[in-house]
Amino acid sequence: MRILVTNDDGIHSPGITALAKALAAIGEVWIVAPDRERTAVAHAVTLHKPLRLHELSPRTYVVNGTPVDCVNLALLKVMPKPPAIVVSGINKGVNLGDDVMYSGTVSAAMEGTILGIPSVAVSQEGVDTFRFAVGATYAVRVVRLVLAHGLPEETLVNVNIPNRPQRGISGVRVTCLSRRRFHNPIIEKLDPRGRKYYWIAGERISWSRSKDADHEAIEEGFVSITPIRLDTTHHDVLDQFRAWASIIARGVKKSSTARSAIGRTGHLGP
Ligand code: MN
Repeated sequence: MRILVTNDDGIHSPGITALAKALAAIGEVWIVAPDRERTAVAHAVTLHKPLRLHELSPRTYVVNGTPVDCVNLALLKVMPKPPAIVVSGINKGVNLGDDVMYSGTVSAAMEGTILGIPSVAVSQEGVDTFRFAVGATYAVRVVRLVLAHGLPEETLVNVNIPNRPQRGISGVRVTCLSRRRFHNPIIEKLDPRGRKYYWIAGERISWSRSKDADHEAIEEGFVSITPIRLDTTHHDVLDQFRAWASIIARGVKKSSTARSAIGRTGHLGP
């Protein structure tokens, strides 16, 4: 059984090494990973420069592209047959809540799902040092279950592991994506020539809409398992928007008419 392993921290990250080593116990591991760190590139694909694929050793390849490029090349070019599963990670640092929108780790798993392969993203909490051995233990357990039972259609699994030794892990919790944003996200400074420059950073603040928030699970020492679906359509509000469709089609000029139509269908604006 073939397993594709990729990441967004690059081929030289100890996280991908730990993951590949652990997964070798259950299948034939193929690694196709970026040649350097590509954290926070989300679902980017490389369209305007040639992609190069280098075989480092048997079944281990590097690409001068993004995590999503890697998954595409792996599935459509490198591997002789599709893998049974795509596993992305182990990322240096958590991917919780809104992080999944920016994460190359999660996007690689998403690409696997788009291409019809059950896929899992794995991220390890930590700052300077990371307990990848703990993360790998849980990654293997999740992968075994996915291989045995499959995944619901259009669904990937986002796994985060708290920064604790194995004996300190509180348990495993199935979670929802929380809201997790930055306080003062843009730092403004002056360069040596007196020109402004900006740094996207800031202090992380979290809040939740439910007791099953992923960041709360991690804070309480639980491994967090979040099923994520590809379809981000907000099905509950489709009817509200359908009321707009005829107005958009007709091109109503008076804004008061449009306002009253929206009023009838409930609050839509921010
Ligand atoms: Mn990363």
